[in-house]
Amino acid sequence: MRLKSASINRRELLRSGLGAVAGGLVLGCRSRGLARSELVPVRVSWDLVQRTVVGLRPFRRSGFKVERESFGGKELIHNYGHGGAGLSLCWGSSEFAVEQVASTVPRRCAVIGCGVMGLTTARLLQERGWAVTIYAKDLPPNTTSNVAGATFSVGPDPAFSAKFLKVYDRVARAAFRHHESRIGQGYGVRWIDGYEEATDESVEELDADPVVDHYRVETLGKAEHPFPWERVLKRRMLLIETPIFLDRLVQEVRASGGRIVTQEFQDAASVLALEEDVVFNCTGIGARALFGDEELIPVKGQYTILKPQPEVDYIAEAIPREDGILIGTTGQFGEWSLEPDRDAERRYMERARAFYEAMET
Ligand SMILES: Cc1cc2nc3c(=O)[nH]c(=O)nc-3n(C[C@H](O)[C@H](O)[C@H](O)COP(=O)(O)OP(=O)(O)OC[C@H]3O[C@@H](n4cnc5c(N)ncnc54)[C@H](O)[C@@H]3O)c2cc1C
Repeated sequence: MRLKSASINRRELLRSGLGAVAGGLVLGCRSRGLARSELVPVRVSWDLVQRTVVGLRPFRRSGFKVERESFGGKELIHNYGHGGAGLSLCWGSSEFAVEQVASTVPRRCAVIGCGVMGLTTARLLQERGWAVTIYAKDLPPNTTSNVAGATFSVGPDPAFSAKFLKVYDRVARAAFRHHESRIGQGYGVRWIDGYEEATDESVEELDADPVVDHYRVETLGKAEHPFPWERVLKRRMLLIETPIFLDRLVQEVRASGGRIVTQEFQDAASVLALEEDVVFNCTGIGARALFGDEELIPVKGQYTILKPQPEVDYIAEAIPREDGILIGTTGQFGEWSLEPDRDAERRYMERARAFYEAMET
């Protein structure tokens, strides 16, 4: 969902996972409008709160790192640093990582990390004949990936180099194709309508979205929607229900003969001491300490999760999932604490309550 912040611009919001409602836009496209009663407001109250979740997005200003390095007979392939777009970019980025060993005869290999990057990398390797062992400190449901909303939200940053932009574009398109092909196949990936306030800024940024041509985007005038906004962007978007998606990937890795071992590495030397001579580094924010990448910083985020409300099936200020309604989320750059920010939680709960109470039904 799109949230305003004085300290971060909208592209940063997207890349740090706050920009759930994003995408391409063709303005001037009139819609048939909505019967106001079609959309049921979310009930926002403290007695419906199930839990608060916190995660650290692995953010690199210059973009994610997919790169192969050789260390005395070992091949190390990095795949980390996806900020707030890891659930979106996972298949495309992991495909790019696996391409780095395309000319190597498949054999045993190690994947470090059991978040969405580790799991999609493992699955793509298995499909190409590799025997995979995943080593990770935390497994689902205890990874950052489990905290994500998650909507398919990608947005290139003006700070990206021209060379990286080409990679980003390719990765985003490939990722979208993979997710789309899994709709209705038990991965928790589906289409949903998202609504956000239409502003000049959102129009401009939507145009830069690499998969804009896959969305159905409409603009709605005041009389055509129930929200307390003047002009609204309605976009058919992809929702990735993370608990379902990650569980399914874990099952697939195991069903294809993969092993998942709980193990924490203290430094690069301990990773390189593994018996496998091909190692994929999918450690998210953990890569900073393991491999000394100082560009990699956390962007702390959190959601307050309300009890499920199956009658709500659209995204506006909240994300509806099978396991609950997500309210949030914050984006604190450089913050390592995993403690919930209770002041921010109160602000977002209050904001969501006021928003849904103001809906015309
Ligand atoms: C609040 C919030 C909302 C978000 N919303 C979205 C969204 O809407 N859309 C979207 O696309 N993305 C979203 N994201 C971003 C997304 O969650 C991340 O980009 C993604 O989870 C990164 O995946 P990963 O596999 O690289 O890292 P992780 O999920 O953190 O996995 C890293 C793995 O490496 C392991 N590891 C780390 N260090 C070590 C070590 N030293 N030894 C052994 N194992 C180690 C960990 O235990 C874990 O298994 C959101 C994130 C947050 C926090």
